[in-house]
Amino acid sequence: MSDGQKWEELCRRCGECCFEKKIDAKGVIHTTAVPCRFLDIHSRSCRVYEQRLQLEEDCIQLTPENIAGLDWLPQGCGYRRLLTE
Ligand code: SF4
Repeated sequence: MSDGQKWEELCRRCGECCFEKKIDAKGVIHTTAVPCRFLDIHSRSCRVYEQRLQLEEDCIQLTPENIAGLDWLPQGCGYRRLLTE
């Protein structure tokens, strides 16, 4: 298994990162009920995963280098949990 595959397997496929976020007046981030247009809400998977970064300008690729700064990832996210283990 490649390092890339191991990284991908950290994802729990919850899809929670693929819902729009709002920041309130106090700077607190809230997840809305509005999904990304490319999210299959039943399978909770991206319908254009391989092309997502080209098709959706707001999509952010998660990497070992950037996850520590992505404080909008949900508590149960497999990548966020990696930071606390
Ligand atoms: S929130 Fe984390 S675990 Fe859930 S789908 Fe997104 S990247 Fe995967």
